[in-house]
Amino acid sequence: MAGNITLTMIKPEAMRNNVAGGILKMIQDEGFKIIALKMKQLSLAEAEEFYAVHKERPFYDELVKFMTSGPIMAAVLQKENAVENFRNLLGSTNPETAGEGTIRKAYATNLTKNAAHGSDSDENAQLETSFHFSEKEIFG
Ligand code: GDP
Repeated sequence: MAGNITLTMIKPEAMRNNVAGGILKMIQDEGFKIIALKMKQLSLAEAEEFYAVHKERPFYDELVKFMTSGPIMAAVLQKENAVENFRNLLGSTNPETAGEGTIRKAYATNLTKNAAHGSDSDENAQLETSFHFSEKEIFG
């Protein structure tokens, strides 16, 4: 499976804005296959663990608070070179600089509330997939 999956989370503000369907359509139109999908609300402990790499950053508390503020939709996406291809579709972290045709350009609110997450490496794609899904929940 390595190299052809990535993990996305549609973030709470996009869920509140009712644009999950639009984001999933952009994902499918780009040729990604959704092989796992669930809606859940992250606990504080889960959000802290997921973003542990950013623990020392000034935006960490705000990020964790935001990510636990409502349900998210987690999905595993399959495509050749999934991590890089999905980050291209996602657009830059700051939506003000996100390119035309990207998810963040279309749907993000600001730097924290930037619509969706995408894994940044094949290794993290595997770790983040296991974080959200059991083997039985993945239909690859
Ligand atoms: P990503 O891979 O593009 O999601 O970006 P990172 O992994 O660097 O950061 C994780 C998340 O933290 C981002 O998606 C943003 O929601 C948030 N974030 C990153 N950098 C900043 C920042 O400088 N300020 C704020 N407020 N949030 C940030």
